[in-house]
This record gives sequence, structure tokens and C-alpha cells, in this order.
Amino acid sequence: MTLLLASLADSADVWAAELRSRDLPQTLHVWPDVPDPSTIEYAIVAKPPAGLLAELPNLKAILSLWAGVDHITHDATWPRHVPLYRMIEPGLTKGMIEFVLSQVLNLHLMNYDFLERQQAREWDNQVRGVYGTEPLIEDRTVGVLGLGEMGRNVALALASNGFNVMGWSRSQRAFGGIDCRSGQEGFNAVLAESDIVVNLLPLTPETEDILNAGAFAQMKPGSMLVNAGRGQHVVDQDLIAALDAGQLSRAVLDVYRQEPLPSDDPFWAHPKVTVYPHIASITRARTGVTSLVERIAILEEGGVPEGLYDPDRGY
Ligand code: NAP
Repeated sequence: MTLLLASLADSADVWAAELRSRDLPQTLHVWPDVPDPSTIEYAIVAKPPAGLLAELPNLKAILSLWAGVDHITHDATWPRHVPLYRMIEPGLTKGMIEFVLSQVLNLHLMNYDFLERQQAREWDNQVRGVYGTEPLIEDRTVGVLGLGEMGRNVALALASNGFNVMGWSRSQRAFGGIDCRSGQEGFNAVLAESDIVVNLLPLTPETEDILNAGAFAQMKPGSMLVNAGRGQHVVDQDLIAALDAGQLSRAVLDVYRQEPLPSDDPFWAHPKVTVYPHIASITRARTGVTSLVERIAILEEGGVPEGLYDPDRGY
């Protein structure tokens, strides 16, 4: 079988070395080295060059190196008749649990506020509330938007650490004692009842701009946001207005409308925003390649592996 690895984002060298280390009956080409496009059966991609996938006439499947597939579907020329698979692998999921758990703990303990006080040489032992009344984890509700591979596992990890957890998804879910909601009413309830909202939705026409002025107004006064979904979920100026008005007290952002975040973007210098460079969780090459190899084997046997993109749902 012939594979093409094409990445303008992740380190293609690392992925190629890992793929070549497996004992597979495969020929691997790494973009831009594509001697004969008609021989390529599987394209393994992260931000592939625009137009590339349309030039591969015999593709059996497109395998994304990322959980989101918007880096592929935003190219108007991507071949819609070819099955597209998002990445599902344990390293990516565990990485997201680590990131969100650490951020939610930071927000719960108001660690970023203590860093600000340190810079001002200010001794303030009431940052978390009146001394002796500081909330414990069990006093905090965390709302997780999106209960898929990322959100479901993050919700379970938060709950097992003692947080009250609410979750929101397209279809009604039930698992692990999480207070699961769906629909517009469910969305409003999760926003209204959460001290910390964690966004782990995929980017679709339905979810674009979902975190806007109306959503921020529904949130508890002084509540906090972690966005590890996509930058296009957030209306930037609405978030800044909500932070400036004190409706939200802090935002931890990992993803942006434009990446890398331009040096003059207001998020960089905003005192209530923490900026991460889209590293909430990264597909790990070792476990990611195992997932790719397993799924290609299922496809070769005529099966349908997990993670198939559904164009009707948009994810
Ligand atoms: P997934 O398994 O496809 O799960 C998507 C979840 O979102 C599902 O629970 C789905 O509902 C829900 N959803 C989709 N559209 C919805 C809507 N209109 N209303 C309500 N809920 C909706 O995806 P995943 O693997 O968890 O990944 C989710 C996203 O996380 C990715 O698309 C990507 O954007 C982001 N991500 C970011 C990083 C990072 O480093 N920042 C890393 C990995 C992933 P149902 O359960 O009803 O289907």
C-alpha cells in the first residue's frame, strides 16, 4: 500500500520515522515528494497544502493527525467522496486531560491572580475570598462543552477529582454520574450553573461563534473560561468586553481565529487572559501511529474504523 504524509503543521520527520519503524507492507512518501499521485491510497495529514488532496485520484481514505478536521474541510477542494477520519489515540486524550485538569485547578485556586499580586509585590491572602471561606473543589461546578473523545474523558477526570461536572453535547448523553445536557436549554443551564466553562467542541457551522456576548451574559458573574476547542468558537471582541466588564473573571485560551496569534492581538496583553500556543494536547507520534496502522488495517479488510467524519453533522 502507498501512503502520503503531508503536514504543514506537525513535524513530518517525527511522523515519518515512526511510520517507517513499523513493519508494514507500505511505501511512504512525504510531501512534497509525490512521484506519482495516482499511486497514493492513504493520505495522513495535518494542515495539508491547499488543493493537494484533490490531486490524488485513487485515495481510499484521508486520516487526520488531529482530532479536529477543520484544517482539511476548510479547503473547498477537499474530495468529499473520500472517507475522512479524525484522530483518536490515547496520547492525545491523556494530554487533554492533563491540560484541562491543570487549568481548572489553576483557575479554582486563582493561581494567575497570585502571579499578578507577586508582580505588584502585594501580600493579599484574601484573593480566593474572605479568609476561612475559600471554596473547595466540591464547591465548584465545571461545565464541559462537547462530550466526545476529549470532553467525555475530561469530564470524567474532573469528576473523579471532586468537581461537580455538567456536560453539553448535541445528542443527550449519560455516563459516569455527569450531569449531561443537550439542546439550547441545556446549553443555557450549563453556562448559568458553571464556575468554570471548558470548551471542547468541534468547529462546525453550528458551533462557530457559539461563545458570544449572549453566551457570556448567561454565564455566572465572575466565572471563567478555558477554550481548547477552536478559536472560531469565540467572538473575540465579545470575550474581551465580558472580561473588561467583570462578567468573566479570567480566560485561558489555547486556540485562536488566526494562528500563530498576531503580535498585536489584544489577547497577548490582556491582564485577564492567559495565552497558550495551541498546545493543549498534541497527537503523540508513537501512540498516534499505532492508531493509524490499526485503522488502515481495518480499512484494508473492508471495515469502518472509529472516527469517521460525518458531513451532515460537520464533525
Ligand atoms: P468528538 O469526539 O467528535 O466529539 C465532539 C463532541 O461535541 C460530541 O460530544 C458532540 O456531540 C459535540 N457537539 C458537536 N456539535 C455540537 C453541537 N452543535 N451542539 C452540541 N454539541 C455538539 O471530538 P473530540 O475528539 O472530542 O474533539 C473535539 C474538539 O476538540 C476537536 O474538534 C478540536 O477542535 C478540539 N481539540 C483541540 C486540541 C488542542 O490542542 N487545542 C486537541 C484536540 C482536540 P454528540 O456527543 O452528540 O456527538
